[in-house]
Amino acid sequence: MTGMSAQPVVPVRPPEQLGLAGMPRQLFACTPSRLTSWVDCPRRYRLTYLDRPRPPAGPPWAHNSFGAGIHNALAGWWRLSRAQRTIDSAGELLAACWSAEGFRDPAHSSAWLARGRALVQRYVAGLDPDREPLGVERTIAARTNRLALSGRVDRLDDRDGELVVVDYKTGRRPLTVDDTRGSMALALYAVAAAATLRRRCVRVELHHLPTGEVHRYEHTDESLQRQVRRAEQIADEAQAATAAFKAQIVDSPAGTPTPVGIADMFAPRPGSQCGWCDMRAHCPEGAAAAPAQVPWAGLGEDKGSETDAAQPGPSGPPDRAQS
Ligand code: SF4
Repeated sequence: MTGMSAQPVVPVRPPEQLGLAGMPRQLFACTPSRLTSWVDCPRRYRLTYLDRPRPPAGPPWAHNSFGAGIHNALAGWWRLSRAQRTIDSAGELLAACWSAEGFRDPAHSSAWLARGRALVQRYVAGLDPDREPLGVERTIAARTNRLALSGRVDRLDDRDGELVVVDYKTGRRPLTVDDTRGSMALALYAVAAAATLRRRCVRVELHHLPTGEVHRYEHTDESLQRQVRRAEQIADEAQAATAAFKAQIVDSPAGTPTPVGIADMFAPRPGSQCGWCDMRAHCPEGAAAAPAQVPWAGLGEDKGSETDAAQPGPSGPPDRAQS
C-alpha cells in the first residue's frame, strides 16, 4: 500500500509548454469521455462535439435508462438523512427517478425496474450508512501541462485517511481488475480528485452492480503519470484536428466542400460497434458496417436467462459514458 502524502500526485498547474513563436499553447478542455470518444471514432467525435447544429442522436437506449436510474438512486440514497438510508429507500428512489425510455413497452420497463430495485437494494445492504462519502456525483477538475480536465465522479470515499474514487458500473459485461488498472478515465479522476481536494489520491474502484463485484487498483505516481501522458497525446491529436476543422469548415462560407485533409482527420472507424452508435444515421460507412440495434438490445435478454442478461458477450454496448 502506498502511504499518505500531503502532496497531490500531479501538480495542480505545472508550467505551460511554449508553442510556436513562444506563445503558450492553449490547454485542451475535456472530460475523460471526450478523449475516449476521439480514440473510438474521430467521425463520431466530429458529429458529437464539432458539427453545428449538432446532428440529432438516435433514439434513447434502454440500457442507458437503466444505468442512469441506478446511478441516480445511489446518489440520492447518500443524500438522505442517516435514518432514511434503508434498504427499502434505495428501491423507492429508483422507482421515483425511473425512465421508461428505450424499453419495448410498459411491461418491459416494469420488469427491468424490478430487476434494478433488487440490484440497488442488494448493493446498499453491503454499505455502512454511517460512512459518509466525501462526495457524491462530485465535479472535480485538474490542469496538467496540456489538459484542462474536468469530470464528475460517482463517489469519493475517505477510507481511513485515503481518498478512493468509486465508479459504479451497470453494463452486462463482467469486469476484471484489468479494467480498473487500464482505465484512463479512472486514473484521470484520481488525478482530478487529488488536485481538487489537494490530497493524494491513487486508489480507484469499479463497483459492478449486476455481479456485486468490486475491482480495486492502487496506482503509483508513475502509473498515473503514464495515463496523463497518454491522455495528453490523445488531446494533441484531437486539438490539432479541431483547429483544422475550425479553420477550414467553421470559418468557410456555407456550402464549401469538406477538404480531403479534414475528412481524413475525422475518418470513420466502422465495425460492429456501429450498431450501437448514436450518430449512425449520419454516417454511411457505419450504417453499412453493422445493422442497427433495437433500443433495448443492450439489456441482453436474447442471450437467455435473467442471470445471463447481466453477463453478456464482449460485443455489447458501451457502459454508461463517464462524464
Ligand atoms: S457509425 Fe461507426 S464509423 Fe460511423 S460515427 Fe458511429 S462509430 Fe464511427
